[in-house]
Amino acid sequence: MITLGLDIGSVAAKGVLLTPDHSYQMVVPTGWSPRDTGQQLIAELTRLARLELHDVDAIVATGYGRISVPNADKSVTEITCHAKGLTSLLPQVRTVIDIGGQDSKVIRLNESGRVIDFAMNDKCAAGTGRFLQVMAQVLDMDVSDLGEAEIPAETVSINSMCTVFAESEIIGHLAQGKSRGGLIAGLHQSVAKRVAGMAARIGVVGPVAFTGGVAKNSGIRRALEAELKAPLLTPYYCQFTGALGAALLARNL
Ligand code: ADP
Repeated sequence: MITLGLDIGSVAAKGVLLTPDHSYQMVVPTGWSPRDTGQQLIAELTRLARLELHDVDAIVATGYGRISVPNADKSVTEITCHAKGLTSLLPQVRTVIDIGGQDSKVIRLNESGRVIDFAMNDKCAAGTGRFLQVMAQVLDMDVSDLGEAEIPAETVSINSMCTVFAESEIIGHLAQGKSRGGLIAGLHQSVAKRVAGMAARIGVVGPVAFTGGVAKNSGIRRALEAELKAPLLTPYYCQFTGALGAALLARNL
């Protein structure tokens, strides 16, 4: 069977195409039109696998733009897709922490990989990738360089939770000559505290996995491990767990 999973996120759109002997993945910026981005991903993934659209047996879409994908046979919630994708990669995991562009979520799984509880923050940019993107801009950096640039020993605490106020706070610290590395460590700590607080509300049971685009940031990973006092497992394709879950669920259609 050949299936395709699309995770149309707020920042990045991810696609996974599964054939009987291969898996193909691709990520593109979501841009202003989730519909066009979904179609672009389908076209590019099928081209990559040297297939035509009619060769694909089923397509499942997830993510905030899931209802906009015209060729999808079904749309499924992100929680279900992330749980499915993650358990196929790391079946031993009991808690998943996913930090994406515009939301963060904590998912509790039982021994069979079924979702038993979850918590989600999609109301406020603090504790999400968007917060880090805004702060990286203030620091004149790319978000992908934050993890390597922090200096944990010089952590400058960021007290504002609101993204707009945190931005002003950073500008103030820079004016006082605080180090960029120390500020980045403070930002990572601020995101980690926020997400760990949400995780504590539903309870963290190990082993714990860390996924989403923000899981590529080694500084956030270290800060979260310190807050949770637990090691985090991160699959290599950490940004693709939702799309992978969608492609696996498409096999049931
Ligand atoms: P969504 O599904 O909401 O679009 P993703 O899970 O795709 O979110 O994550 C997007 C976020 O991941 C971005 O906001 C950015 O902060 C972060 N990100 C993406 N690539 C990297 C990278 N190479 N290093 C660090 N952070 C990254």
